[in-house]
Amino acid sequence: MTPSYTALRKAVQEGKATFTDIVENFLANIKARNGVLNALLEVYEEEAVQAAGNWDQHYKAEGSLPPLAGMVYVHKDNIAVAGHHLSAASRILEGFICPYNATVIERLSAAGAICIGRANCDEFAMGSSNENSAYGPVQHPFLEGYVPGGSSGGSAAAVAAEFCHMALGSDTGGSVRQPAAFCGLYGLKPTYGRVSRYGLIAYASSFDQIGPITASLEDLIITYQVIAGFDPRDPTSSSRAVEPYHPKGTTPQKWAWIMPEGLHPIVAQVLKEKKELLRQRGFEIEEVSFPYWEYLIPAYFILTTAEASSNLARYDGVRYGRRAKEAQTLEELYARSRSEGFGREVKRRILLGTFVLSAGYYDAYYTKAQKVRRLLYEYTEKILKEYAVIAMPTSATPPFRLGEKVEDPIQMYLSDLLTVYANLTGHPALQVPVGTSPEGFPVGLQLIGPLFGENSLFDAAYALVDN
Ligand code: GLN
Repeated sequence: MTPSYTALRKAVQEGKATFTDIVENFLANIKARNGVLNALLEVYEEEAVQAAGNWDQHYKAEGSLPPLAGMVYVHKDNIAVAGHHLSAASRILEGFICPYNATVIERLSAAGAICIGRANCDEFAMGSSNENSAYGPVQHPFLEGYVPGGSSGGSAAAVAAEFCHMALGSDTGGSVRQPAAFCGLYGLKPTYGRVSRYGLIAYASSFDQIGPITASLEDLIITYQVIAGFDPRDPTSSSRAVEPYHPKGTTPQKWAWIMPEGLHPIVAQVLKEKKELLRQRGFEIEEVSFPYWEYLIPAYFILTTAEASSNLARYDGVRYGRRAKEAQTLEELYARSRSEGFGREVKRRILLGTFVLSAGYYDAYYTKAQKVRRLLYEYTEKILKEYAVIAMPTSATPPFRLGEKVEDPIQMYLSDLLTVYANLTGHPALQVPVGTSPEGFPVGLQLIGPLFGENSLFDAAYALVDN
């Protein structure tokens, strides 16, 4: 498993390691395995080596380090890094070089973190298996022939394959949590508005949040603390202060346990064992019913595709990336650039979104789905008045095989059932790796907490750690 940044930092401070060695290690792993995994679309080798050398020198000269000095990370290919390609894994952004940094990138670099590459993903973050990338699918990092999850599959695979300490993903309906679960890692979808979306290529703006994926809980927490907080450049970012995190220890609490029917036996078994363990540790775990399962996927796909159809209207072949050759009229230029540039899944969602917003259907679909969204929010708030957190599986199934669902969009959409919930309501949700089945499949549990209650999720996650 990826050595944690927290451990590395200590080793550097004790004179037992250097940042340069670690970057060289990560680069060697990338060279050995990225050809097969296809997790990274670009590697920033020179910049990473240079930054590591600078932090080694800085430490020698000053004896101090900023909070994330020498933490090595990758960014999903929908988060802007100045001077580098940015494509959302789409042909339509072919050749586009980003002129500015996303706020998260600026904050990470001010804290000393080192960006080592750009991670593959599903095109425009639409997918659950990373098979929708224009640059080919990503392979699961240790289950051959399986998907790593999506849409931040390249991000999760990169952490699990020891290419970096941390990866940034974006989560609109589970794209940080589900791949983290499939790869046995931690992944956080922060409260909506907690992390700036400035510089994130929009999929569905009222759902999107950037979040970290890591192998260690400590690394996830310190990253969250750097990237969270108000940003005047994102009008939906919250001005609420980010509270420092001090682990409380694992005082037993009352948790709501929400389990859907039809869980895969592998997932059900691992979670049952965890529930027993928590009870032994003095936690009050109560099964809480959830009457809205059947509304989650329809509400999510109606609202996100509606937003996507509007957000993706800007890719017209004029301003960014790919432009169709020899178009005779402006209309033809738009149509051909978009037809050639967008992949199948993206087109499907633009069509669906345009349909649900069209005159005559708007109230039946869009307005109705907004009402469902409100209802889910209120129900969640009600549960969280009584319980410290809500626990539910991150995915109802273990990782599936490459090719297994890609031809069947409905099956693929249904695999998002458990993660879209927290994006519909805006609550923070943390994926915690809780075990591996005897066959070697990682299983994840997600914890959902009060708005801006990330710290209570961290406390709850510590209770799940075996010790
Ligand atoms: N898998 C979900 C979808 O296909 C979620 C995507 C995401 O979170 N970006 O829409």
